[in-house]
Amino acid sequence: MSRTHSPALQPLAAKELIIPQGTRPAVPANTPIIITIDGPAGTGKSTVARMLAQKLGLDFLDTGAMYRAAAAIMLERKYDKDQVGELVSTVIGADLHFDWSQDPPTILAWDTPIDHRIRAQEVTDLVSFVATLSELRQHMVRKQRIIFAQHPHLVTEGRDQGSVVFPDAAVKFYLDADPEIRAQRRIDQLGIDPETMTLEEMCERIVERDRIDMTRQDGPLVCPDDAIQIDTSKMSIDDVVELMYERTMAVVADLPKIDS
Ligand code: C5P
Repeated sequence: MSRTHSPALQPLAAKELIIPQGTRPAVPANTPIIITIDGPAGTGKSTVARMLAQKLGLDFLDTGAMYRAAAAIMLERKYDKDQVGELVSTVIGADLHFDWSQDPPTILAWDTPIDHRIRAQEVTDLVSFVATLSELRQHMVRKQRIIFAQHPHLVTEGRDQGSVVFPDAAVKFYLDADPEIRAQRRIDQLGIDPETMTLEEMCERIVERDRIDMTRQDGPLVCPDDAIQIDTSKMSIDDVVELMYERTMAVVADLPKIDS
């Protein structure tokens, strides 16, 4: 397998995300909007979602963090895979929510930040299982709709945002990229030593996670019919964000306004 590295779509630190404000039009405050971005792991969803949100003056929701938090709780409580009822009640009791004063917003469980735990490999290995649990998904979907009610200018990214959670979203995107490129991005993003995990191994894990995400009964990863599809394999991050920005601004003027 060749090393097809795409440096253009590496995740950026918060300070690198600062885009000069005021030079381009953002979404007006009297225009509620939700933009959904779905797609498999390593397509650059989080990075472009954050940049797009910043460019348009919107909030940014990482729904994968919610499922990752549930997986971290499952590990912490040492629940077996058949203890679904206990897991769901515990996650509901944890009252997962975001601290919106942070950029990007950080996730809390029992009012305690858990961001530092949710990217661990053991969480990544478990999260697709957790995301198959219908009762848990229903809880997450409800929470995500409440978040939009509280943050009505939102870019949200995940696997089911345009297909299930916000089917009436004003603009829907579906990002994809070659599995090998996605695997390399994940290795770079996590700073993984090639001695610890090869590109082939990461690729296998990503493809397996895609398989579970695409074949589950509830909220499978699909490309919504009305989504704008973007293959990010050979695109720079700026080009992806620019394309999304243009496509969004093309519809903003026609969206319903509220009294401000
Ligand atoms: O995007 P991220 O890799 O953080 O997502 C982790 C996992 O959470 C995904 O592989 C998927 O199983 C699950 N997920 C989901 N629905 C979402 C967001 C994430 O099922 N809306």
